[in-house]
Amino acid sequence: MNERFPSTRLSASAPLDRLDEDPATEPVLRPARSRTALSFELIPPRHDADTALLDTLIAGLAEYNPDYVSVTSSRRSDWLEGTAALISRIAETTDLKPIAHLACTAGTRDELTVWIRTLIDAGVRGFLALRGDLPEGEAKLPDGYLPYATDLLNLINEVQEEQAFRLAAGKLALSVACYPSGHAESKNADMDLDVLLAKQRLGADFAITQLFFEAEDYLSFVEKSRLAGVRIPLIPGIMPMTSLRRVERMGVLSGIKVPECVTRRLSDASTAEEEYEIGMQMSADLTRTIVDAGTGGLHIYTHNNLAVTRDLLSRIDI
Ligand code: FAD
Repeated sequence: MNERFPSTRLSASAPLDRLDEDPATEPVLRPARSRTALSFELIPPRHDADTALLDTLIAGLAEYNPDYVSVTSSRRSDWLEGTAALISRIAETTDLKPIAHLACTAGTRDELTVWIRTLIDAGVRGFLALRGDLPEGEAKLPDGYLPYATDLLNLINEVQEEQAFRLAAGKLALSVACYPSGHAESKNADMDLDVLLAKQRLGADFAITQLFFEAEDYLSFVEKSRLAGVRIPLIPGIMPMTSLRRVERMGVLSGIKVPECVTRRLSDASTAEEEYEIGMQMSADLTRTIVDAGTGGLHIYTHNNLAVTRDLLSRIDI
């Protein structure tokens, strides 16, 4: 048996074991690699005005030679219309490998089946399979919609099988979401781990984390996940903290309480420039800590802001 990753655990609900290692000499995650894997999240533009800036953004991000870029999907950007349009643009104009965020909320099972085929035609290299947020006041999605991300993984696998001849050049990458601070609807942390294990069993190749505000939140989540039997990469989603307002808004949108130490430090700033500097330095310190702990990759929530993304990466020497 591998002592570092005990394999006897049957359920994430069982009591946690400890990793028997000296944290001073051994990274919690895995040995540091020579190159940190890098990916970027892009948002389809909402207005024509943004489209002009898009080429500069895409070209600027491409300079980092990222391992993939992921394209979000939401009501505000016409659901998958916007996602597919941006993916087509990326596939036609660059060598970047685009991954589409696909949420159960974007359509019925039948509609999503058509969208998966359309996105494959558009040049997608993989999917981030998501449930999406429930409509306000609803406890579940309407009839005809897939209830959970795990059901969407099954559907993608089904369509992938049907398209096997066309995909002969390579399998689609399957990714899923995970939550260092827990998902708001989950009963407890073990439920989040059970769901993540189910996603792994259904073929997820990697997971991307929800944003988090302290390195320790990510590192302890990875440790608990490994002890529960999660083997796929858990790629940290990094949100540059450019201002208190943005941090608080992202906290609300993602249902995560912003730690007091973060709000206090940002509130101490007397100018917007100082606030930006403090926030970006905190983001860089957080990122540096998890890279130094041995994580193999970073996923940057760019918010389509090339200058901020560049600034963060230069602060951590990427
Ligand atoms: P699930 O994994 O299905 O989980 C949802 C809830 O149901 C959890 O509480 C889980 O514990 C529970 N659950 C799961 N399976 C079961 C089961 N079988 N039985 C009972 N309970 C179960 N949203 C968008 O709309 N568009 C995006 O582009 C987008 N991008 C994102 C990118 C990342 C990296 C992340 C982390 C999130 C993103 N989201 C996006 C938000 C995401 O859709 C929400 O967080 C959503 O509320 C949950 O999605 P999920 O895929 O984690 O759902």
